[in-house]
Amino acid sequence: MEREQKLSIYNTLSRKKEEFKPYNPPFVGLYVCGPTVYGDAHLGHARPAVTFDVLFRYLQDIGYKVRYVRNITDVGHLENDADEGEDKISKKARIDKLEPMEVSHFFTERYHDAMRMLEVKSPSIEPRASGHILEQIELIEQLLEKGFAYVSNGSVYFDVAKYDKQYHYGKLSGRVLEDMVANTRTLDGQSDKRNSFDFALWKQAPAEHIMRWNSPWSVGFPGWHLECSAMSTKYLGARFDIHGGGMDLMFPHHECEIAQSVAACGHDAAKYWMHNNMITINGQKMGKSLGNFITLEELFEGSHKLLVQSYSPMTIRFFVLQAHYRSTLDFSNEALQASEKGLERLMRAVQTLSKIEPKATSSVDISDLESRYLDAMNDDLNTPIVISALFDWVKIINQLHDGQQSINSTDLESLTSLVKKIVFDVLGLKDEKVDQSNDLVSPLVEMLIEVRSEAKVNKDWATSDLIRDKLAEIGVQVKDRKDGCDWEII
Ligand code: ZN
Repeated sequence: MEREQKLSIYNTLSRKKEEFKPYNPPFVGLYVCGPTVYGDAHLGHARPAVTFDVLFRYLQDIGYKVRYVRNITDVGHLENDADEGEDKISKKARIDKLEPMEVSHFFTERYHDAMRMLEVKSPSIEPRASGHILEQIELIEQLLEKGFAYVSNGSVYFDVAKYDKQYHYGKLSGRVLEDMVANTRTLDGQSDKRNSFDFALWKQAPAEHIMRWNSPWSVGFPGWHLECSAMSTKYLGARFDIHGGGMDLMFPHHECEIAQSVAACGHDAAKYWMHNNMITINGQKMGKSLGNFITLEELFEGSHKLLVQSYSPMTIRFFVLQAHYRSTLDFSNEALQASEKGLERLMRAVQTLSKIEPKATSSVDISDLESRYLDAMNDDLNTPIVISALFDWVKIINQLHDGQQSINSTDLESLTSLVKKIVFDVLGLKDEKVDQSNDLVSPLVEMLIEVRSEAKVNKDWATSDLIRDKLAEIGVQVKDRKDGCDWEII
């Protein structure tokens, strides 16, 4: 670390920004709730994935060694996030006449493909709930032993009322148990639960339920909240640094995770809780019933009825980063088109860096960009402020190219590596135009431009124009200047 970093992050648990102090620096344990793999990845998946990817990248940039665990939920997540109803993956398997493992494998692969397109790095470990049934059973045994769980007709439930007497159920979401009691329906006598707000740790499987395992209580399956407590502890220890996820998971999922960990260990597992805000579409909540549920593939292809065009993965990533992760983010065609243009300007400026002629002295102060970048990132990952600092530098880069400002070669080298680090390594963007081509394109274009320059020297205007026009046809724009020419892929 070149300069002492004081990263502060907003801790949902304490409801304030706190200086980030990991338990065991330089090691950082980061756990983020991953997808339930029963359908295509959509906008709601892109935001947490990009947010925590930037956190993962930034922590490494400032010198931490991060173990990033992001799980795959392939069992136990029932419809409506409730304790009743069908398992989301089982249901898909039943309807499509597939093995549940086929469903989860298929959609895990699709999720990975979408994440790769969004330049979201693979986590250090990606555990699956179905691969950790034993760990979950052990955790249930611990909870039963400590008296915070009870068995009822082959199922096991967490005793929320008992836990709340000793600890505080609702400390993350700010809910109070008495209010929850008032707002929930009374049990109709059919339920195995003592109280309606208790949640399942183990459910006895009905005959038609496909995903089932042996346990001391019944043949059944684990409750959804249990897997994250079991897997985070297994891979990050009983105390780890950051637990992240979307705000929609705060209650009941994360609240229940906290209750399970505290009941089993007597203390919190995660020190900092981070939650990204939600995505709305044209001001509306996203939902299948509202017809505004847009998958990432539909965005990349422009194939949803709400889209007037396709949007590249980097446009989506840039758009997500243009808002602070704790603000809501509203998708609209206009906003996405603005992001597309902004990203294009940024990428062209990165290309322009290599065309700047260094001078003897510098009229610009490159430490301005570095300190603005670090201050913004250290202030709870304020990526929109980082992007606005970058755009101020886009102007400066263009002035350096036009000769309105000057920069010496050492500064130019530092500026180039700083801009590339921020744009590519930390924000995780890439130049899709350069990427679409390959390493052969630049030398080939350069060669044609050389032939064209010779033609111009020989006053062979026909050849010169032909090369320019043919390049234009394939999307390479040549701009003549006094002392040569520039070219870009448009
Ligand atoms: Zn989780």
